[in-house]
Amino acid sequence: MPNRPTNVAVLGSTGSIGRSTIEVIAASGGALRAVALAARSNCELLMEQAGRVRPRLVAVADAEAAAKADWSSLPPEVERLAGAEALERIVAEADVDVVVAAIVGSAGLRSTWAALAAGKTVALANKETLVMAGPLVTRLAAETGATLLPVDSEHSAIYQALQAGRPEEVRRVVLTASGGPFLRHTPEQLACVTVEDALRHPTWNMGPKTTVDSATMMNKALEIIEARWLFNLAPQQIEVVVHPQSIVHSLVEFVDGSVIAQLSPPDMKLPIQYALYRGERRAGPAPRLDLTRMLQLNLEPPDEERFPALGLGREAAAAGGTAGAVLNAANEAAVGQFLAGKLPFTQIVPVCRAVVERHPFDPHPTLARLFELDRWAREETLQCLNC
Ligand code: NDP
Repeated sequence: MPNRPTNVAVLGSTGSIGRSTIEVIAASGGALRAVALAARSNCELLMEQAGRVRPRLVAVADAEAAAKADWSSLPPEVERLAGAEALERIVAEADVDVVVAAIVGSAGLRSTWAALAAGKTVALANKETLVMAGPLVTRLAAETGATLLPVDSEHSAIYQALQAGRPEEVRRVVLTASGGPFLRHTPEQLACVTVEDALRHPTWNMGPKTTVDSATMMNKALEIIEARWLFNLAPQQIEVVVHPQSIVHSLVEFVDGSVIAQLSPPDMKLPIQYALYRGERRAGPAPRLDLTRMLQLNLEPPDEERFPALGLGREAAAAGGTAGAVLNAANEAAVGQFLAGKLPFTQIVPVCRAVVERHPFDPHPTLARLFELDRWAREETLQCLNC
């Protein structure tokens, strides 16, 4: 760690991860400093954050929202930027040490890519980056010497547990899943769930898209793909167990049968902080486990019939190539339609499967091809709804 504060660029600062990141920075006693904040269009919150944090740069990705925003509350020395390209500029700034990639969806890929191309340390919350382009992204990081650190709580847990052995000693990793709000729902009950029901998560407080993904267990499907590329695992080394309390964040089993897990209350500040301090352990604002009270930890196998997203995620992880990008885009489009009241909850995953099965698979796509297929899959998803 440098002797000066670690300079952090927070992309997606107005979201759930972004807001927790700002709390971690505020509690760091000056060890961490936010030098840049960026969001899409929530200018009111962005300006309020900038007033508190006093970054050097503020960016609004949506140019129209930027034009309408009231920037007057910003101190004159703060540089103001607008448009999606501004994010790619911010992440490459010389004084940025760590980029927190906390934009939701495929919109996060370009800025994460630019940060890795500039050789930065990236604290990656945007799992879609690895789902879409895992092999290309990890290769780029290796070429530029950039570091990719997980923020997703499951992947942070695996990253921490992996410190207990050598890569060749890992037998399998086990991702834990809360099971979401519908863990005990019958198929008949699942057929009737509303948007409001799906947005009521029992343990985690997340943005709307990620909350719906958790309810369908597509979130876990995407995490299987993320883990495959992040830790260079074979697809059959990745398993999922349901753990409704969300305290065990994931487990690693080594060849001798030892299982190492990471435990903490369900709160993203701890994995964010672990990434921001680049693996150093420090006191911070994350809540602690109270071991003076009875702690129940249940682990059970997932019901893959009621939650078919898991099988689809495993297939996409095994296929590689363009499968992850197409699955991700179809899911983003389908969740958007569900949130708009135009698609039943139980149709989200079947629609995604239909789009993945219909796409022109390419085992070795370029980044440009992945973006083309991202667009194609969104259109195809909408077509699917009308057929
Ligand atoms: P939110 O929906 O709460 O926040 C999304 C953020 O991204 C907002 O700041 C939003 O800005 C910004 N954003 C959206 N689109 C764009 C765009 N095109 N350009 C620039 N900024 C954009 O999401 P979460 O914080 O829940 O999730 C963020 C990422 O982290 C996701 O990939 C998710 O899977 C992952 N993650 C989240 C966890 C959680 O607990 N929330 C846990 C683990 C991973 P604006 O507010 O202006 O729209």
